[in-house]
Amino acid sequence: MNCCVLCKSQLSEHEKPEHILLDAFGGRKTTRDVLCSVCNNKMGAGPDKDLAESVAPLRTIANLKSGSRKKAPSLHEKPASGDSYDLGH
Ligand SMILES: [Zn+2]
Repeated sequence: MNCCVLCKSQLSEHEKPEHILLDAFGGRKTTRDVLCSVCNNKMGAGPDKDLAESVAPLRTIANLKSGSRKKAPSLHEKPASGDSYDLGH
């Protein structure tokens, strides 16, 4: 049985699936063999979220759907960070 690469707890088949490539990058494949659900949630609310938000303007320009088939952020959608960007100029 594998252990979580971050906290070293033993993993089970009940772990929340972790995207191998971020959903925001179009990733669809998941694994339960790397992170426990607790660490997966922490990563999802922290660095994964920050990384996904940082590429949101590029997703908009490329009209790139997420792995879960959500449409690209709109030009008028404000990022969760509170920052704003204007892609019209
Ligand atoms: Zn863990």
